[in-house]
Amino acid sequence: MKLNIKIRAYWVLGLLVFLWVGLMTIAQPKLDSAIAQTPVTPAISAVSTKKVLRVATRIIPPFVMENEGKLTGFSIELWQKIATQMGVESKITTYKTLAEMLSAVRENKADIAIAAISITAEREATLDFSYPMFNSGLQILIRNPKKVGMLPNLLRDLFSPTLLQLFGLALLMVVIAAHVIWLFERRHPDSSIAESYFPGIFIAAWWAASTLATQAEEMPKGALGRIMAVMWMFVAVLFVAYFTATVTTGMTVQSLQGDIKGLDDLKGRSAVTLARSTAADFLQNKSITLLTVDKIEMAYEALLTEKVDAVIFDGPVLRYYAAHDAKGLVQIVGESLRDESYGIALTNGSLYRKLINSALLKLRENEGYQQLYDQWFKVKSDS
Ligand code: GLU
Repeated sequence: MKLNIKIRAYWVLGLLVFLWVGLMTIAQPKLDSAIAQTPVTPAISAVSTKKVLRVATRIIPPFVMENEGKLTGFSIELWQKIATQMGVESKITTYKTLAEMLSAVRENKADIAIAAISITAEREATLDFSYPMFNSGLQILIRNPKKVGMLPNLLRDLFSPTLLQLFGLALLMVVIAAHVIWLFERRHPDSSIAESYFPGIFIAAWWAASTLATQAEEMPKGALGRIMAVMWMFVAVLFVAYFTATVTTGMTVQSLQGDIKGLDDLKGRSAVTLARSTAADFLQNKSITLLTVDKIEMAYEALLTEKVDAVIFDGPVLRYYAAHDAKGLVQIVGESLRDESYGIALTNGSLYRKLINSALLKLRENEGYQQLYDQWFKVKSDS
């Protein structure tokens, strides 16, 4: 009897095990697919809510600035908006250089980096990037040409190749006119132009030159000489008009733009940029003497102290400098040399990327981004 009960108990146990295994075999695929359908959200929210995000940045006005120990700037405020949108806490650490900041993310000492980081193929290989957060581009900054003294400007204009050519042409025309007038006038009894070649040609040349410049005191006496004189006067009027137009246009363009208008004008001259920046990369193998410095402030200094002719760097950064610290001293010339986009750098495969991207998109849609952009970059009209 006892044995019978034992056997029955084994049977029941066996049956239960069989049923469990069977049930699991049928249920497992469904369970798997249920998990597969909701894989990302729980994982991300688990990561994002628990942890304080480690944010790396670097001072680069107007994107990141330090004001009485507090960080401000477009990128900092944008990040604050993104973090609020994501519902995460973050701790910002400032790094000295772009390379150190990016290394911090690469080595997982920081979760993200935000400043004025250009998205490049090379960086994309070792880092991830958010959607572009700002449209930028490389530009040229030069000293204000108006600051050059008047005398050097005048001397440079007087000895410019165009002007020297015009002077040469005027001389040639005077010599020709002098010969023509001498030929017609030398025999006339009332004429003051001597018959012999040398004194005669000098007087005729004097007459031709003063007619060209202003008005000669005496007119030729013979009929042919007078016809020639009238023709010469017409030529003189045209020449003076052409001369004035050439000189004034040249001077106006010079004083408005200086002589550097684009990258081509920098050939054979010197420029400075930030070492290891995208601008330094772009300027490699261009035929300009390139100096690289570790801090962009050193580049500004080199420009103002006339050690170099131009600074080439991110346009928005240069524009801010030109409008604030160096107001009236420098100016941006030419178009963007190459368009670039700034992004938020993340560790490769970071789960925060999707959350940051959707926060960025929402800020674009609800005008939060636009407000911030206007606050930092909109040119205020004087009215
Ligand atoms: N946008 C430039 C780059 O990514 C300069 C950034 C910086 O100096 O922080 O190379």
